[in-house]
Amino acid sequence: MSTVLPDIDRLRPEGSKRSSKRDLIVNVFLRQEGHFSADDLAEIIHREDHRISRATVYRTLQWMVEAGIARKVDFGEGRFRFEHSYRHPRHFHLICKTCNQSSEFLSSDIEALIEEIANARNFSAAQSVVQIYGQCESCRTGREAQPQDGITTELLFARDALRIAIATERSGLEFYTRAARIAKDARGRSVFLKLAEEEREHLSTLETRYRQLLTRDPQLESRPTFLFFKGAANGLFAEGAEKLMAAGVGDRQALMLGIRCERGSHRFFKRYGERFEDSEGKQIFLEFADEEKQHLDLLIREYRSLVRRQGRPKRRRRATVTTSHGSAGRR
Ligand SMILES: [Zn+2]
Ligand SMILES: [Zn+2]
Repeated sequence: MSTVLPDIDRLRPEGSKRSSKRDLIVNVFLRQEGHFSADDLAEIIHREDHRISRATVYRTLQWMVEAGIARKVDFGEGRFRFEHSYRHPRHFHLICKTCNQSSEFLSSDIEALIEEIANARNFSAAQSVVQIYGQCESCRTGREAQPQDGITTELLFARDALRIAIATERSGLEFYTRAARIAKDARGRSVFLKLAEEEREHLSTLETRYRQLLTRDPQLESRPTFLFFKGAANGLFAEGAEKLMAAGVGDRQALMLGIRCERGSHRFFKRYGERFEDSEGKQIFLEFADEEKQHLDLLIREYRSLVRRQGRPKRRRRATVTTSHGSAGRR
């Protein structure tokens, strides 16, 4: 499997000369996976070219950190380790104290919690480090660990981003299919049918993409989860679909429920996607956010048109639909 290599020339600081030694060190660094110390890297480099000194390796590592190719991580061992940061999203670590192996994960729920705590304390958070120390499965049970060679976090991230998008799309499809079934207004029904049809199309596009991704690593499906997101399958649309089944839900309420679901979904994928380093997973999230925005806008237009056709609600409730960033209606 090939790793996407950054354009080193573009990253090189202004005025600094091209150096073949540095290029070699960067290339060797990018071929390694995982978290390794400066000495580990120096040893590998030494095997490739014994004329390159340890000091040059250290200097180059420092330069890579500044250029955004490498990231320093501290696992509490009294020395730093380095990992890729190019196309490699920020993440948290599980660290085995027996074999010193570490594995990576991300959780939108942990991040949301950290944000909530920082906000409550009026604290502007620059960076958060979550490290879980303990013992890994293979050290605990003696079973051999699944080999991680050649597997990149970027691929796992893309896989999980696609899984989340697919799960969301499925529950969206379920939502619009139900909504079309209960709609009384003919035009409202056709809008729900149209959205269900779109969700079905997106779903098959995403599934094709998922299958393509699997061809890049035959074991990809069984690799451990990287991105944890509790809301995926049951959060964004499932609650709306549930409410849709309550007795007496009219077309307006159905549209409003759809608006809330699409808005929640759009916001999640956009906010989350924007935070990531450039990567395939980021692309998947942002493209998905765009699709959800289009659905959202369509639903808002339909809601307004329905209100115009049916007149204001009988009870003097203000059902305001503002732009997609404002609030739509009352809770
Ligand atoms: Zn271990
Ligand atoms: Zn890491």
